[in-house]
Amino acid sequence: MRIVKDKNKNIYIDKTGKLEGRGAYICYNEDCLNRLIKTKKLERVLGVKINEEIYNELRGVIIDKTN
Ligand SMILES: [Zn+2]
Repeated sequence: MRIVKDKNKNIYIDKTGKLEGRGAYICYNEDCLNRLIKTKKLERVLGVKINEEIYNELRGVIIDKTN
């Protein structure tokens, strides 16, 4: 799925794949998400702090998609 940062540094989950802004892609896989959280890779790629709320939302989308 695509995660997007807009010009105001807000982070969105881009469910349509069409939002404007700097994007990063992550797999629909909880292990991958856990790894991203642990390594802070997403924060490095997007250059912004990502709060727990966003990660929880991502986890929810992944769980929805894989069940
Ligand atoms: Zn992955």
